[in-house]
Amino acid sequence: SATPATLSAISNGAKNGVLVKGGAAMESLNTMDILYSDKTGTLTLGDFTVLDYEVPDDVLNEVVYMEQQSNHPIANAIVAAFKDRTFKDIDTSEPVEEIAGSGVKKGAITIGKPSAFNGYLDKNHYLDKIAEENTTIIVVKDDGIVGYVSLSDQVRYEAIEAVSGFQKEGIQVVLLTGDNERVAAKVAKEVKVNDYVANCLPEDKINYILKSQRNKKVVGMVGDGINDAPALANADIGIAMGSGSSVAIESADVVIVKNDLAKLLYSYKLSSRLNRIIK
Ligand code: ADP
Ligand code: MG
Repeated sequence: SATPATLSAISNGAKNGVLVKGGAAMESLNTMDILYSDKTGTLTLGDFTVLDYEVPDDVLNEVVYMEQQSNHPIANAIVAAFKDRTFKDIDTSEPVEEIAGSGVKKGAITIGKPSAFNGYLDKNHYLDKIAEENTTIIVVKDDGIVGYVSLSDQVRYEAIEAVSGFQKEGIQVVLLTGDNERVAAKVAKEVKVNDYVANCLPEDKINYILKSQRNKKVVGMVGDGINDAPALANADIGIAMGSGSSVAIESADVVIVKNDLAKLLYSYKLSSRLNRIIK
């Protein structure tokens, strides 16, 4: 059972916006060697704006209908941007399937990240759009690309300071994102992480964690999405943003209630101090 000093550190952390679930997590937080971080909602606000788009009108209705069934920040932005759409011609009996870390699918229509459609990207006249430093999703109907939507998000300014704080403590911070290379590189540069990996699938995130663990590193992973939950469960210290999906929060050892990564740094320092007391 937890020592009084451990309980007191947990309570101090909680007052400062970080819920650490139990003594073991509080006592081991400061052993972290590497912190992997998701991008959307973690290093960025996860509050996208639609910049521009080109989608045939009838397909756009389908797109909005489909994104209504998803909780991804991109889906929320698309639903908000096209509020006045009509769904009267839509076959609502057809299920909408979410493809974790990739997009959504309903019947002949698939919406999602360009790298998921590598097979026919070369024939795509939206290639210029996809090459920009924005998050671009493409709309595919019957195996042909019929449109795109470009969106932008902003980095959380407090993440910049938190990342440099962790680095001062000797922790490597590495971005693992499902987004494209250009966006990943841009965010990595803005937040100044040690390294980044773009086009990650949920299982790729797990593989990076397992690889670091085989190299005897204590791994922290911070994320917010449903698709981050398996990675959070595999990390030595799984950390969820408070605004994250409930599965992410349940899979985590630590929850950053107000989504401020600087609070995690504070808790890390509490853990270091705690270990000086109890060891
Ligand atoms: P991140 O690593 O930035 O948190 P995710 O792994 O959640 O990103 O998603 C990776 C990519 O998959 C997004 O950048 C987007 O291109 C695509 N994607 C995921 N969910 C959706 C959705 N509901 N609609 C459209 N595209 C999606
Ligand atoms: Mg995410």
